Amino acid sequence: MITNRRHLFSLAAVSAGAAMMPAHASAQTASSVVPEKSPRVKLNNGAQMPLLGIGTFNVPPFQAADTVSFALRNGYRLVDTATNYGNEKEVGEGIVRSGVPRNELFITTKLWIEDFGEEAALRGLDASLKKLGLRYIDLYLLHWPVPTDFEKTIAAYKALEAAQADGRIRALGISNFHPEHRGALMKEAKVAPAVNQIEFHPYLVQTDVQAESARHDIVTEAWSPIGGSFTNRPKDPAKPIRVLEDAAVIGLARKYRKTPAQIVLRWHTQRGRVAIPKSVHYERILSNIDLFDFEMTGAELSMIDGLNRGERGGPDPKTFDVAAFRRIVEHRKQNPL
Ligand code: NAP
Repeated sequence: MITNRRHLFSLAAVSAGAAMMPAHASAQTASSVVPEKSPRVKLNNGAQMPLLGIGTFNVPPFQAADTVSFALRNGYRLVDTATNYGNEKEVGEGIVRSGVPRNELFITTKLWIEDFGEEAALRGLDASLKKLGLRYIDLYLLHWPVPTDFEKTIAAYKALEAAQADGRIRALGISNFHPEHRGALMKEAKVAPAVNQIEFHPYLVQTDVQAESARHDIVTEAWSPIGGSFTNRPKDPAKPIRVLEDAAVIGLARKYRKTPAQIVLRWHTQRGRVAIPKSVHYERILSNIDLFDFEMTGAELSMIDGLNRGERGGPDPKTFDVAAFRRIVEHRKQNPL
């Protein structure tokens, strides 16, 4: 509760005007909007997607509108949300409040696995559009494959192909799909996914999945790009794993006079991956996108690739389904943060 109050204060201070910001920050007043800061990558449907955006998992509804509006007014154009995050309505409010024209924005949301199947998928899409207050979604993802009921995964995707044809979705994509899931989907589907959003950070370097996606013209997008899930919920609470405290990352941060988060996020973008770091702290929101003024060498990028430990913070897509999700929810209720 105390933490939440502090967050509220920091965002309220920013809304009140730049005079309250630290000297290094360039936050704007409500009436001004900073031009887009991130380069874009071209998707297989022709759309241009920013390489760096703001994530909103674990951004509680009461903070989501301020967080999104602040990010958009300060150079972000990509926002990542999901039905399952429970904050689409407030994300939509943040979009409106930002004042950034709709055609500059790139909004992603995701169909939750309990809404898979043809009719449920279309209902899920319409519910998201309504909550977000949008006429179309720039990128709509199947949130996870459901290997134990893959027929419903396929039915949902095919229903969304139709929704793409009528303009409610600009780009259609997948999330947490391994190559075998993608292969099984494409035996039935017509539209190749534009993006596969997967867990990807220096301790889970899924180069093989990225390479397979690239062969099919699918852009890889990194979730938990700075290792968020590890920091928040390590599998062994006695051994928290913090990507941003890795000695190699800190060494590069010193060399380039950047933060550890900027080093890791620059590694993603130099490797051609979209990254969507989440933060509710305005100074972090600002610094996480302030990284396109330096480049690491190929050897340094390879060094970060080499930190891989194959350690997942999130569930394994090979075994994830509705029952597994409900077990996780129950576990979290018993073990709050
Ligand atoms: P993340 O972005 O890697 O890490 C977020 C954590 O890092 C938060 O605790 C945040 O704290 C902290 N943080 C942010 N910037 C920082 C900085 N500069 N220095 C130090 N700490 C910093 O992890 P994530 O939220 O799990 O993943 C990012 C986004 O990916 C999500 O928000 C969501 O949109 C998406 N996602 C998708 C899936 C999927 O299945 N498709 C799964 C998980 C997440 P504060 O907020 O307190 O600053």
